Amino acid sequence: MSAAAASGTNHLPTIAVEGLTGCAGELLVILENLDKLLPFVRVVRFPFAQSKNEGGAVDITFVEGSVSQKHDLEKLKRIRANTRWLVAVGNCAVWGCVQKGALCKCKASEMIEAVYGSAASAIAATAMDAAPLDSHVAVDVKLSGCPINASQFLAVTASLLRDHLPYIISKPVCLECKLRENPCVLIEDNLPCLGPVTAAGCGALCPSMGAACYGCFGPCEEPQIDAMTTILKEKGYEMEEVLGRLTAFGAVIPMGEKWRK
Ligand code: SF4
Ligand code: SF4
Repeated sequence: MSAAAASGTNHLPTIAVEGLTGCAGELLVILENLDKLLPFVRVVRFPFAQSKNEGGAVDITFVEGSVSQKHDLEKLKRIRANTRWLVAVGNCAVWGCVQKGALCKCKASEMIEAVYGSAASAIAATAMDAAPLDSHVAVDVKLSGCPINASQFLAVTASLLRDHLPYIISKPVCLECKLRENPCVLIEDNLPCLGPVTAAGCGALCPSMGAACYGCFGPCEEPQIDAMTTILKEKGYEMEEVLGRLTAFGAVIPMGEKWRK
């Protein structure tokens, strides 16, 4: 039985939208598209957008941001205990994003020291190494992107409202790029496009503008990193530069480690 039905107060399914450590990009996408959902759901909590927020159980909670601070983790555990479906929205929540990617280059304590100076020790006491939600709790749906694609968000929500786990495409960006009949910037312009190893969902935004994909949707299913390496090496790219692009969004650190060998 849904939380809404159990409460007996309202027949609409209930949703909550919460943020951890992130830039609020996903919260903005959800806010901009909320009018399309309002006939079908009751928004119980959305502190970013409304001042009146209720506690208690909900049917679906969308969570943006990585777990980068102790209070993020406490909040996430509370969210998990009070929601039927937990949806990680955005690259931070799904992969850890730039907060996690930065850990390839230096320790969190070094970054805090550089930014906060003499106040660093107080900040460091509450900081954690940035990690995606599923490092700490079970996640039902992962919707990546930086920011997420609004159509994907609405499709995922519609699916959950019908009690179905959504199918999220995880084919490479190249697929969408070819469907748009774009010239290939990797082949024709020798740009270091990560489209072959990046999950589709953005509609091949960057290559459609003549720019290389830098992987903001995270890796696709079974990314062919070795083949990507060979192509970029043949094009004369230094591995350090390519590794920097691959790890920028925190998703492919294990693959980056593989590249270092
Ligand atoms: S431009 Fe990039 S995304 Fe498009 S086909 Fe070429 S490698 Fe793939
Ligand atoms: S093309 Fe790549 S970098 Fe650009 S929006 Fe899509 S996934 Fe992100």
